[in-house]
Amino acid sequence: MQHEANEKNAQIIAQNWLRVVDQVEDARVAALRSDPVTIVGVTKYVEAPLAHLLVLAGCHCLGESRPQSLWAKHEWMSEHELAQPDWHMIGHLQRNKVRRTLPMIGCLHSVDSLRLAQTLSSEAERIHTQLPVLVEVNVTQDADKTGLNPEELTAFFEAALPLSGIQITGLMAMASQFSGGAQARREFARVRQLRDEMQQRYPDTPLSQLSMGMSGDFREAIAEGATLVRIGSSLWEGICD
Ligand SMILES: *Cc1c(COP(=O)(O)O)cnc(C)c1O
Repeated sequence: MQHEANEKNAQIIAQNWLRVVDQVEDARVAALRSDPVTIVGVTKYVEAPLAHLLVLAGCHCLGESRPQSLWAKHEWMSEHELAQPDWHMIGHLQRNKVRRTLPMIGCLHSVDSLRLAQTLSSEAERIHTQLPVLVEVNVTQDADKTGLNPEELTAFFEAALPLSGIQITGLMAMASQFSGGAQARREFARVRQLRDEMQQRYPDTPLSQLSMGMSGDFREAIAEGATLVRIGSSLWEGICD
């Protein structure tokens, strides 16, 4: 029974993955873009064995929004002697969880304060590494959204760029929750514009990454230049954990 369920899930996940890959590719071509778009497979809806099936399907970059869930899956894969995917932390990271999380991840999408940037940098220096990070920016009117406000970006970059344990590679954002296509696209365009402004101001720091777009709005995000799309629910359609 267990084995059969596993086979079935593997098949569904592989189909979902190929469908999403096609959709992302179509959106990239429609946007007349020749640069790659990386799919971050968001695994927060499932347990580690299903996350592993997504890796087997071909998704090598996984994202988690809660550190505890990332730790649990990382640990499960180690226990099973499986190669780790490229783990990306995409949600808020509290400073007291930096030490444990940092060695497991290849990128943090959600730097939202200077204090967090400082903690990340000194911890990365301590273990002789450098962490690629994105700066989360709030371009919506939603009061509950996290991230820096656009007018805070310059001061943030000024203070965070000299931190040698982190490497700022771009911006991350979410569209407002109930916005719909046109509104989401305007918000993503704003993120791109903010990135371009920062790039002009700091030409020596390549800000090539834009992490934006989820299952419901990745087409709009890709049209506005997203290089990382964070896709969860579409990948788990038809799956019961
Ligand atoms: C859950 C989550 C996603 C994925 O959203 P879906 O709509 O399930 O594709 C992307 N980014 C963040 C920060 C998330 O928490």
